[in-house]
Amino acid sequence: MSINSQLKIAIDGPAGSGKSTVAREVARRLNVVYLDTGAMYRAIALKLLRESCDLSEPGRVEAQLEQTTVQILADERILLDGEDVTDEIRSAAVNAVVSRVAELPAVRRKMVRQQQEIAAVSEGIVMEGRDIASTVMPDAPFKFYLDAALPVRARRRYLEQRDKGLPLSYEKTVHQINERDRIDSGRADSPLRITPGTAVIDTTTLTIEEVVEQILQGINLQAD
Ligand code: C5P
Repeated sequence: MSINSQLKIAIDGPAGSGKSTVAREVARRLNVVYLDTGAMYRAIALKLLRESCDLSEPGRVEAQLEQTTVQILADERILLDGEDVTDEIRSAAVNAVVSRVAELPAVRRKMVRQQQEIAAVSEGIVMEGRDIASTVMPDAPFKFYLDAALPVRARRRYLEQRDKGLPLSYEKTVHQINERDRIDSGRADSPLRITPGTAVIDTTTLTIEEVVEQILQGINLQAD
């Protein structure tokens, strides 16, 4: 059995806290699986958008979910019912609805089950999202919560979107991530929160490398 067989690392935090970049790099250095659970919620949001599904009708949402598959490939591409939607799940339309979709208990049940199945068959995994430490992998020995001041998080998202050619102003980005955080933290089912036993890292003034180092030191393993 390799050392990585017990290596379950949960990384939670709000939008723009640096989770994805940091989690991907930690997984690369430890040579374990990286799972971006936000991408899975985004894929479901895209499906419900395409089907013009009324989110206030649980029966309709469940019927859609029964006919929906989300797959994450090793190279991080996302397939929705077999179609590559890797770019489309980052669109402004998906950004605008994803937190509303992720509030729905039926959506969360399906996603959490699939994420737990992925963790169960992985020798080691770095999973990032909002409810990983609290709900998806409560047994993970290593739990981190990344945070940063809102203007810094908004600026990171704004620059990311600008680089992809998405025309969203800085002010609108602030509003949008603030709104997503409000919904993600306020929902009844597995809200974004800091669970006991979680190390909080404020990334406001840290570089990616500094955050990665803190996590690697936290799990007390030597990086390559
Ligand atoms: O991480 P990202 O910003 O791409 O996630 C998009 C949205 O998916 C979040 O704002 C949140 O509403 C939802 N999400 C969630 N639980 C997770 C991961 C993401 O509710 N574990």
